[in-house]
Amino acid sequence: MTEQRVTTDVVIIGAGPVGLFAVFELGLLGLKCHVVDILDKAGGQCAELYPEKPIYDIPALPVVTGGELIARLLEQCKPFEPQFHLGQMGEKLEKLESGNWLLTTDLGMEIEAPVIVVAAGGGSFVPKKPPIAGIDTYEGGSVHYAVRKMEDFRGKRLLIAGGGDSALDWTLNLQPIAASVTLVHRRADFRAAPDSVEKMRALAAAGKIAFRVAQIAGLEGEAGKLSGVKLKSPEQGEWVEPCDTLLPFYGLTMKLGPIADFGLNLDENHITVDTQKFETSVPRIFAIGDINTYPGKLKLILSGFHEAALMAHQAFHYVHPDKKLRFQYTTSSSELQQRLKVA
Ligand code: FAD
Repeated sequence: MTEQRVTTDVVIIGAGPVGLFAVFELGLLGLKCHVVDILDKAGGQCAELYPEKPIYDIPALPVVTGGELIARLLEQCKPFEPQFHLGQMGEKLEKLESGNWLLTTDLGMEIEAPVIVVAAGGGSFVPKKPPIAGIDTYEGGSVHYAVRKMEDFRGKRLLIAGGGDSALDWTLNLQPIAASVTLVHRRADFRAAPDSVEKMRALAAAGKIAFRVAQIAGLEGEAGKLSGVKLKSPEQGEWVEPCDTLLPFYGLTMKLGPIADFGLNLDENHITVDTQKFETSVPRIFAIGDINTYPGKLKLILSGFHEAALMAHQAFHYVHPDKKLRFQYTTSSSELQQRLKVA
């Protein structure tokens, strides 16, 4: 478990497009950011749900894919050296006596800052659970919905279920270190990248993994320890595939998650904010992007970019209450150009 404590100017929860542009806007004003995201990569919905789809309504970019937009945003905010804490859920938020906030992640990372920016989009991406009776009793021990550390699976007899990129990628990545890998998918066709499917089929042909076209019918084991997974198919009927670990990859869904307990005013799972600073009902906590709501809100990336700029100007006053903020253009301010490392 990661256990570490750091202090910064601003903690951003969510590394989607809006969280990334917030790093840029805050960086222009000289503020340093730490960014937390439950996903193992930056980019939010653009990276997770539609990396290869074209977007046509980003100002000055007539067409850009979700993946390209995120690559550009990461490049744009790079001069400000944001610290990313990926694969971690922003779980607990406490107010310290100093007036600062302390965000604790589910991996035990503690980040202290005077300002919190919630850029959590539709909420955190959480795995879709397969409807298998009794699966809860095996969760955490024998059943895992994500691979946080590959080493945890060394020497294990794995059964990986699913037909998308995660199932195929983890089949390929874990095969060299696992004692055995069985991939189970209900069809012989896959949604995953064709290259990964080809590599998986080659491993199966070489006898290095087993591939079964089947559905999961149940789990076998005792006291939370799995001994096998019951499979069924129209051709072969039912049988038990021995394994000690089940990794189901059935896609992700979005849930508001721990943010619901941060004590912020909510309206149908969205955080209410003012439209001047995009601050929540709790001072020093801002909400920008898809997660917020206000009269006339449009859930568009460009709305989130605008909200990030206005939020940053108010955040500056909280971080530096004794300093005056001068409005400056990047085209003409040598101070901003130095921060951008272009002067
Ligand atoms: P998100 O992209 O949702 O990112 C939020 C991030 O916060 C996620 O990565 C999530 O894991 C993380 N998170 C949440 N809670 C926590 C927590 N507690 N701890 C850690 N991490 C957390 N918009 C357009 O403008 N133009 C388009 O053409 C367009 N096309 C779209 C097509 C599709 C198929 C979809 C699904 C959306 C489209 N959108 C489009 C909408 C656009 O993607 C969203 O408006 C945008 O992603 C919102 O950005 P965000 O940064 O606010 O949130």
